Amino acid sequence: MKKHNFSAGPCILPQEVFEKSAQAVLNFNNSGLSIIEISHRSKDFVAVMEDTRKLALELLGLTDKGYQVVFLQGGASMEFLRIPYNFLKNKAAYLNTGTWANNAMKEAKAFGETIEVASSKNENYNHIPKGFEIPVDADYFHCTSNNTIYGTQMKAFPETKVPVICDMSSDIFSRSLDFSKFDVIYAGAQKNMGAAGVTMVIIKESLLNQTGREIPNILNYAKHIEKESMYNTPSVFAVYTCYLTLNWLKNLGGIEAIEKVNEVKAELLYNEIDRNPLFLGTAATEDRSNMNATFLLKDETHKELFDQMWKDAGINGLSGHRSVGGYRASMYNALPLESVEVLVNVMKELEKAVN
Ligand SMILES: *Cc1c(COP(=O)(O)O)cnc(C)c1O
Repeated sequence: MKKHNFSAGPCILPQEVFEKSAQAVLNFNNSGLSIIEISHRSKDFVAVMEDTRKLALELLGLTDKGYQVVFLQGGASMEFLRIPYNFLKNKAAYLNTGTWANNAMKEAKAFGETIEVASSKNENYNHIPKGFEIPVDADYFHCTSNNTIYGTQMKAFPETKVPVICDMSSDIFSRSLDFSKFDVIYAGAQKNMGAAGVTMVIIKESLLNQTGREIPNILNYAKHIEKESMYNTPSVFAVYTCYLTLNWLKNLGGIEAIEKVNEVKAELLYNEIDRNPLFLGTAATEDRSNMNATFLLKDETHKELFDQMWKDAGINGLSGHRSVGGYRASMYNALPLESVEVLVNVMKELEKAVN
């Protein structure tokens, strides 16, 4: 049976990425060798790494704009630490929009003063705070563009002279933004880019080497840039899946093309959440994420039936994050519109079944 995978991460990737990466595990570039047995310094893999870095900048419109890209290990969570280590001299400003944002802020406390400019924690992060002020003397402002757990997404970013650092783990390459307004963009691969095990970090060169702090090599962005993401053995297979996914996206027409599809998918589902009397959306309407839609059954007695119905329809991964419950439909780039149509139909069928 065809599966409709709404998992939040790891999550669905394009079918051709599954097929081509599986093929490369058996026989990479017709070399007679697997991609996971060759040297990461072999000509063929070095070319993959280089192309992936180039492609990432190209898709984001950042080519020749003073940015460097590295692919590192440790997940986005590792960057929560590497960022203050590399960029926090005195004081950093953080916008608290969820668990990930909060975790990022906690890691910074060891390196200097952290200012929480605003928080939606008391409302269980159901919206993005607005109208906050960023101290002009902060070394950077950190935000999370899409809050995977709560289904909120920043639709606008503050205008500020302070360098902006953004965790885009769960909406990278899904919508067009002026990416040159950001000084650092980072994203774990496993939400929209590739297999878990690698994180992309894009850094404006002018931000490097400003703190005067001694930084251990493995945590030092400048070192990873100098070594072209090969300071130590990179996550070879995960990088290759990113390479394949970014090529898929480019062939599709890039971010602008996928953004249109993402908007159609999100609108279809949110319209049904709003129309169907059995369901309630949990995120503030103006902040709703086009990637992760969170919703509840108004009457929990329908839970058993609904869960059975969506499972019977081949839907996977619809349960909400363990910290919030309810439901979460993650509609990343690779999720076909058809899968959203199947979910919407199940919601309509439930309405008929209980009436
Ligand atoms: C998933 C996620 C993370 C954590 O990523 P890891 O790779 O597990 O460390 C951080 N930030 C956001 C926005 C995420 O969605």
